This record gives sequence, structure tokens and C-alpha cells, in this order.
Amino acid sequence: MTSELRHLPSVDRVVSDERLKRLEDTYPRTLLVDVVRQHLERQRRSIAAGQPCPSMDNIVESVRAQVYALFTSSLRPVINATGVILHTNLGRAPLSKEATAAMAAVASGYCNLEMEVDSRARGTRQAHVELGLCQLTGAEAALAVNNNASALLLALAALAKKREVIVSRGQAVEIGGGFRIPDVMRQSGARLVEVGTANYTYVSDYEQAITPRTAALMRVHASNFKLIGFTQQVSLAELVALGRRYGLPVLDDLGSGCLLDTTAYGLDPEPMLQESVAAGAGLVFASGDKLLGGPQAGVVVGSKELVDRLKNHSLARVVRIDKARLAGLAATLIHYLKGEAISKIPVWRMISAPLAEIDRRARSWAEAGGELASVIDGETMVGGGSLPGAVLPTKLVAIGQAGKKGKNATQLVNQRLVSGEFPIIGRVSGNMLLLDPRSVLPEDDRIVLEALSRIGTGLESV
Ligand SMILES: *Cc1c(COP(=O)(O)O)cnc(C)c1O
Repeated sequence: MTSELRHLPSVDRVVSDERLKRLEDTYPRTLLVDVVRQHLERQRRSIAAGQPCPSMDNIVESVRAQVYALFTSSLRPVINATGVILHTNLGRAPLSKEATAAMAAVASGYCNLEMEVDSRARGTRQAHVELGLCQLTGAEAALAVNNNASALLLALAALAKKREVIVSRGQAVEIGGGFRIPDVMRQSGARLVEVGTANYTYVSDYEQAITPRTAALMRVHASNFKLIGFTQQVSLAELVALGRRYGLPVLDDLGSGCLLDTTAYGLDPEPMLQESVAAGAGLVFASGDKLLGGPQAGVVVGSKELVDRLKNHSLARVVRIDKARLAGLAATLIHYLKGEAISKIPVWRMISAPLAEIDRRARSWAEAGGELASVIDGETMVGGGSLPGAVLPTKLVAIGQAGKKGKNATQLVNQRLVSGEFPIIGRVSGNMLLLDPRSVLPEDDRIVLEALSRIGTGLESV
């Protein structure tokens, strides 16, 4: 073991290797020395743990890779041609130009986040979105926080700590990414009381579970699955009526934050925030970056009395929203208020894009892609915990060919498309790489066309 350690070169020796010396033209020497020192320290520990000593070449390569990685931002834009509009792994909702500009404007300087400029009085950051949220949903009061998960945590802690919240068993679900309603409940200090069975729950199930310890009734929108077949869930109106009889508020976790009627675009009805408010829910919860089409945020609307309890709870500070996202959310709400959401908010532009227009774009993509590309019928998913199973008709560009050769070609095309300055992410199905223009904004077509026109060359010889 000690003899292995003796083979490990000194910091000086590694730093003066020709290949690393060249890096000094571009990167600060002190940083190079630091990276080398830390790398050798890790090697020393792994040798002590029984690993063999790495070669000099290996050490130089690792240090070089580490230095490059340090100076390249690993977070960067990609083109989402997957056909999933709200793709959580790709950052969910893209923002409108106005929302992006509003975020940039407050990010680069100071802003009146919590100050009423005229009077110099202390203001509240919520004032910048509360009015709009109330106007759009008909609610008395509103609050924006970090995300919907934290909004739920805050509400349960503020309203139901050490008390009970009744939820249908069919709604005590995992929403994705390990986010489970029962876990949030436990974290908040509230006790989850599940009623009914996985597929059937009746008003009487809720009623029988009400005790003096009950703090609220809760509904969770089944945002990533669909119960089909023989099922029974209690409607929000029925829950509200039951809650009124016992003096209990109803908490309605909608998730997707829809403000527009999805049936106008051939989709199933997605519950809307304003409907829940009108039905009498005490608090309604939504994400800012799903169908609302704004930045990551948790949006809560409801009665003033309940919203105030959330605002005044100590966790409100823990989950508060930052100035940039607040500005993006406010600008997004303005699109709805002006009646221009469909034409300005990217997720709604994608949802409402006519099939004929998608077809035209798909054809131009396929033409650029050359012989191996063709246009086929397909489906776009709305995704992101909204409209479970809801799909929109689309036209896909399919690139590839049948057989084993086809598989290699698809792999090569895929590699080329993701290796550019703007990686283009499609989905692979069988031998084909599928690209969906519906989840790409038309202003990004230029990037896609350029990339596609480059991939054609050399594929014949695969
Ligand atoms: C997405 C979702 C959440 C979590 O929202 P985040 O903003 O991602 O924290 C909670 N509840 C429902 C019903 C959802 O769909």
C-alpha cells in the first residue's frame, strides 16, 4: 500500500507537465495548482483504501477535464423536441418574452420588492402578484411561494399541525420525483387520515372520519394518473358542503394551475383555479410553471382568513419566492389579464397551435433532414402533472430506417443532434428518432433546421 503511495507524483511534477502548462495561457495558475492538489489528495485517499495508483496520463486527463468543467456552465438551453410540453427534466414551462424581460430587469439591479416607492413605506413582495391572482381567480387573497410542494407544506403546518386532514385513499398519491402527499403531511406535523378505497370514496367516508381533531378536508388532483373503470370520487362541491356543515375548510391541490378552458383545444377538461374558488374551496394550490406557464412558484388562492394564516406563519419565510421569479410570475399573469395568454405564453401557444401549422413545420424539418427523414402522425403530451393521459394530435419528423443498419443511423443522428451548441432532444422509438415540432417554439426552428441539414451527410456509409 505504502509503495503504491510512493508512485503518486508530487503536485509540482503534475503542474509542470507540458500538457497542463499549456492550460496556464487560459486559466489562472493558482486554480490549476488547487485542482491538482485536490485531485492528488483524493487519489491518496483511494490508494489508502486499496486502489492502485493512477498513471501520470490518467492524472493529467482528469485534471484537464475538471478544469474545463469548472469553466463551462453545465446548465444550458436545449431544444425540447420530445413532444412533452411540460417536461419536468427539461425545466417545465418556457417563459414569454415579456416574463423573461421582467425577470432580467429586476435581476440585474435593485427593485421595489418590499418598498412602496412613493411613501418609502415598507411594502410586501406579495403585493406584486396578489391583485392579479385575485382578479383572475375571484379569490379574496393570494400568496406566491417557492413551489407548490412548499405551498402545501406551509398550509398544512399553518392550519393542521398536530391535527388531522382527511384525504381520499385514491388521492394520497405520489406526484412524481418522489413527492408524496403522505410524506408532506408528515413533515408538516399534520396527521393524514385516509378514507375510502383506492377506487371508491363517498361523502359518508369523509363524514365518518371527522373528529374534534380534524383541521381540514383535502382534495388532490390526480395529476399524473387516471382512474378508469368503476370509480367514485367526491366532487369539490360536495366536499365544500360537508366542510361547511362541520366548520372545516377544504384544501384543493390542483397542481397544474390552469386558468383557461382546455376543452377548446380538444383536450379533456382540466380543473381551473377560478372554478375551485367559485365552488368554495378555502385554499387552492397550483404550480407556477405548469399550465399557468410561468416560472417555478407555488400559487395559493383562497379566503383572506386562511391565506393570512399562511402569510403569518414562520415557514412563510423559509419558502418565500425570490424577486426574479416574482417578476416573471407577475408578467405572466398580465398576459391572462390582457386576454393574450394564448398568443404570448409559450405552453399555450404550443397547445393551441393548429395541426396544419405543425404539419408545415414538420415538412420543412424533414426536408432539411434529408433522405432518412419523413413526416408521420403522432401525439404530443401536455405532461408536467396536468391532464393525465391528455394528448394533442401532432406531426412527427421520424428519422431512421428499418433494420439493424437503421438502429446505427438513428444513434448517430441522435448523437449529432445533442452535441451541438443547442442540444436537440427528441425521443427514440424502435429504430426511429422522433422529433415533435409542437413542443418547439417556431422561433427556434432556425436552430433545428440548421442542425438537421448538417446530419444528412455521411449517414449513407453507416
Ligand atoms: C406538480 C404537483 C405538485 C408539486 O408542485 P411543484 O410546483 O412541482 O412543487 C403538487 N401537487 C400536484 C397535484 C401536482 O400536480
